[in-house]
Amino acid sequence: MEEAQRIQSLPPYLFARVDEKIANAKAKGVDVISLGIGDPDLPTPDHIIDELVKAVRNPENHRYPSYVGMLEFRQAVAEWYKRRSNIVLDPKKEVMTLIGSKEGIAHIALCYLNQGDIALVPDPGYPVYGIGTLLAGGVPYTMPLRAENGFLPDLEAIPEEIAQKAKLMFLNYPNNPTGAVADKTFYLKAIAFAKKYDIIICHDGPYSEIAFKGFKPLSFLEIPGAMEVGIEFHSMSKTYNMTGWRIGWAAGNARVIEALGRIKSNIDSGVFQAIQEAAIVGLLGNQEIIAELCKIYQERQDIVIEGLTALGWSVERPKATIYVWAKVPKGYTSTSFCELVLEKTGVVVTPGNGYGEYGEGYFRISLTISTERLREALARIKDSLGNFEF
Ligand SMILES: *Cc1c(COP(=O)(O)O)cnc(C)c1O
Repeated sequence: MEEAQRIQSLPPYLFARVDEKIANAKAKGVDVISLGIGDPDLPTPDHIIDELVKAVRNPENHRYPSYVGMLEFRQAVAEWYKRRSNIVLDPKKEVMTLIGSKEGIAHIALCYLNQGDIALVPDPGYPVYGIGTLLAGGVPYTMPLRAENGFLPDLEAIPEEIAQKAKLMFLNYPNNPTGAVADKTFYLKAIAFAKKYDIIICHDGPYSEIAFKGFKPLSFLEIPGAMEVGIEFHSMSKTYNMTGWRIGWAAGNARVIEALGRIKSNIDSGVFQAIQEAAIVGLLGNQEIIAELCKIYQERQDIVIEGLTALGWSVERPKATIYVWAKVPKGYTSTSFCELVLEKTGVVVTPGNGYGEYGEGYFRISLTISTERLREALARIKDSLGNFEF
């Protein structure tokens, strides 16, 4: 039963050691507070659930859906972009429904990478960019995201021969795990780079609506030239608290969307139509819920930033996302610090090296927990962990 090289080549699961420590702490009866989970804790809004309940009763929805997604859902996505960013998408050719954006991110590599082809992958980053590349037989080339560059990749640092061989570039702003955002200047540079080297940009934007203090993240697709070189992955997961529902989309360049559809039509059979109908209501219905959601995350972010800053910890306030990315103190690695925090306080934070080697020296806090538990976590940190040097 020897496994294929493609799965033998998968990197080790870096959170395994922390997971084990969490399990041990729980077994000992510690009241563990997890600030580690990148999964919204709040429920899906009622009007979306109500629509699902209705749609699930319709026998027409019990049959195989179309692999590209109901036209009505793709039209809703197009309308959503029109309303949000004033861009016009052809729902038939420029939008594809996904079983969550993770599915599309993993499959896009199969569409474009031959054995040994390069995909440019941000580090630290969402692991699927690199893993999808490996599973397709491609080679991930790391684009380091460094604090001094605002956690944007330095495109000029990519060697010429690598750029020549690269076929895909993954970008993700607002960024998980760093909370960084990208401006128009950066996107224009990336688009010019993609045109020069014939690279497809895969922009992953699930946090575009989770932003603070009036900041409005750009959609990649609204940047001039973006539609010529790439697509954007997006999702209902974070914006509408729907991670468990598994529905997202890819939108952008028609040729890329068509290629993704060709792979998908041979692998999956689309998203349950009742879920698509509920998602349509999400996209076209009351959007006030997003402002309310952002207010909740904002309050949580305040608790974390103000609490840690008061202790003299090294944190910056992200403009978007549900994360805070912070430096570990001098004398610690990501892993040793996260273990220390867990041992002394029962609070789980995620070691930055789990997102890649350039995440070493950082840890991630997720704001997906009630203000009460968050305050409790910070109180424990204040009481049980001394002052550190950064
Ligand atoms: C949560 C997340 C996703 C996955 O979203 P789904 O649509 O639920 O698959 C994709 N990319 C990043 C960076 C994420 O944090």
